[in-house]
Amino acid sequence: MLKRHPIPHAIWQRVTSRIRVLRGLDAVQMAYLREMTTWFLDRKSITGAQDFEVTQSMRLTVAAQACLLILNLGVDYFDGWVEVILYPGAFRVHHAQSDAIGLVHDDAAVLSGEAWLRGPVILSWDDVERDSYHFEAGHNVVLHEFAHKLDGLNGAANGMPPLRSGMSRIKWSEDWSCAYDALCLQLAHGKSTHINPYAATSPAEFFAVLSEYFFTAPEVLKKYCPAVHKQLTLFYRQAASN
Ligand SMILES: [Zn+2]
Repeated sequence: MLKRHPIPHAIWQRVTSRIRVLRGLDAVQMAYLREMTTWFLDRKSITGAQDFEVTQSMRLTVAAQACLLILNLGVDYFDGWVEVILYPGAFRVHHAQSDAIGLVHDDAAVLSGEAWLRGPVILSWDDVERDSYHFEAGHNVVLHEFAHKLDGLNGAANGMPPLRSGMSRIKWSEDWSCAYDALCLQLAHGKSTHINPYAATSPAEFFAVLSEYFFTAPEVLKKYCPAVHKQLTLFYRQAASN
């Protein structure tokens, strides 16, 4: 399946050598990532919104980082959706939401990325570019949005993706709840935190943000959320280093 449209070596080399989060991978892992990225580009569409012209470099930049998440999980973890949409920059969304008595709230926001439960991943190229080439610990919008896809694979975005065989759901829940509650408590007491406060929005955001840390700033995660760092090591089967 992986030989049909191989990414030319020169292009692969030129694009991936600039992506900060890939610098910790060795030659074997990079070769495998190239195969996974080839699969991704063959099976998923990456198109521009608002006539935005998406180049091969942009597609590779998104796909290679998305595939970093599933490097040791396998492509089945990206089942159930096909579409990635790139906006040139931050985009405005209106989400009509019905409350318990049927009132609809039009909730407007400006976003750098969004992942629909069974639909597309939507990204702002400005943000992808910044996070890919200008490293900031704990920030990577591609990893964040595709982590939501892993989380939502079992039908609900709740911070628990389908775990690998041998992993304990009970232990996962305990460790994540404990770390989540601790972060929420710190914020409630007005303390500054070492983890991006956005993580405290919901268990789903907590999983997505801590996945960003796992790959971009593992030492921060290991120091401040060691139990969760261990769970993510078991899940992603990678020892991220940057
Ligand atoms: Zn999110």
